[in-house]
Amino acid sequence: MTTHLIVGGGLAGAKAAETLREEGFDGQVVLFGDEPEVPYERPPLSKEYLHGKAERESTFVHPEAWYAERDIDLRTGVPVTAIDRSAHRVEFQGGSLGYDKLLLATGASPRRLDIPGADLDGVHYLRGLGDSDALREAFRHGARVVIVGAGWIGLEAAAAARDADCSVTVLEPQPTALHGALGPELGAKFAKLHASHGVEFRFGESASELHGDASRHVRSVLTSSGATLPADVAVIGVGAAPNDELASAAGLEVADGVLTDAALRTSDPDVFAAGDVANSLSPLLGRRVRVEHWANALNGGPAAARSMLGQDVVYDRVPYFYSDQYDLGMECSGLPPVGSYDQVVYRGDADGLEFIAFWLKAGAVVAGMNVNIWDVTDDIQSLIRSARPVDASRLADPSVPLTDL
Ligand SMILES: Cc1cc2nc3c(=O)[nH]c(=O)nc-3n(C[C@H](O)[C@H](O)[C@H](O)COP(=O)(O)OP(=O)(O)OC[C@H]3O[C@@H](n4cnc5c(N)ncnc54)[C@H](O)[C@@H]3O)c2cc1C
Repeated sequence: MTTHLIVGGGLAGAKAAETLREEGFDGQVVLFGDEPEVPYERPPLSKEYLHGKAERESTFVHPEAWYAERDIDLRTGVPVTAIDRSAHRVEFQGGSLGYDKLLLATGASPRRLDIPGADLDGVHYLRGLGDSDALREAFRHGARVVIVGAGWIGLEAAAAARDADCSVTVLEPQPTALHGALGPELGAKFAKLHASHGVEFRFGESASELHGDASRHVRSVLTSSGATLPADVAVIGVGAAPNDELASAAGLEVADGVLTDAALRTSDPDVFAAGDVANSLSPLLGRRVRVEHWANALNGGPAAARSMLGQDVVYDRVPYFYSDQYDLGMECSGLPPVGSYDQVVYRGDADGLEFIAFWLKAGAVVAGMNVNIWDVTDDIQSLIRSARPVDASRLADPSVPLTDL
């Protein structure tokens, strides 16, 4: 019997297994996850679940019974330890299993802070359900929270901590929030939003040391400028690194993630990669890109599954992500890292909380973020795909339909 194995029980892995069955594959499907839980979605862990407003089960991609009903052999708590490509086998504790096609959907892990005191109690990272449980417990009324890093995780954690009536200070070496992801213009808007909710930012400053009490619980953070900030809780949000060690040890091509072509095929034609771990050729962008966002796991897993089944796949989505912070809900299409654009154009109330921001390069839209405005993602993505220069004054004018630009 043909066997397709999936290593990584997150959203990408679960969606790939689902697609194999939906596409009529009737061989063996085995899904390995090293966490104890069934595959779950991570966005709620820094939002409604962290705020205590969602049940644990609501984060699950599917209920546990769903996998057995589809004859998907879900093995939770089982890390795959090695891939023997010449034998077409994977190894795990207590056994090994052969494969015809293999999908790597091993995701990413938080980058660790390597400074004195980083291992104290009360120092948190946020990736898994257990992390979110621990943080929810730590965000008690009046707790002094220091967040290291004003990226998405840091900011969403800040919003949850403020919601729980904690005092919050955010350390960020860059000049503003989300500087690397969005550039200074939109980064400043997010910083302003958080400041208006009582978050104190210390830009241009990083954490140098964490100091604890006699019971080794964090009590203060020494910053790069020499300031000492009292802290009962420290949250480290300094980015994530792809879990590509397994691939690398197996001799697959790896460079900031597992390298794939546009069909999500790795340097081995029987091995595929999707989700946070994949650094895939994007025909739209004309280069490889590793996207650490929910939609890329949601769509990349199924695309890889179709590729495993021998279908002609070109994975060519416009990168998309979303975030919710306080009363701001937003979606962003495209990738606007600092340095990738030369102009930002706003449509709507740019100083308020209802607008669309467009990032342009040489007059063409490369990314767009709709803030508290909905049902415009398709139009924004069409503009990005068209890659043609647009008239900035018409782009800024809400009376001109996005489809008429
Ligand atoms: C707190 C948080 C909030 C987020 N919020 C948003 C958001 O608002 N919007 C958005 O677009 N994106 C968000 N993201 C990003 C999004 O959740 C990720 O892009 C998505 O989870 C990636 O899915 P994945 O399946 O590729 O990887 P993962 O979810 O990381 O799953 C991979 C799984 O594989 C397991 N694994 C690794 N190695 C092995 C092995 N050797 N054997 C077996 N199993 C293994 C891992 O432990 C993990 O369980 C958020 C992420 C986090 C952490």
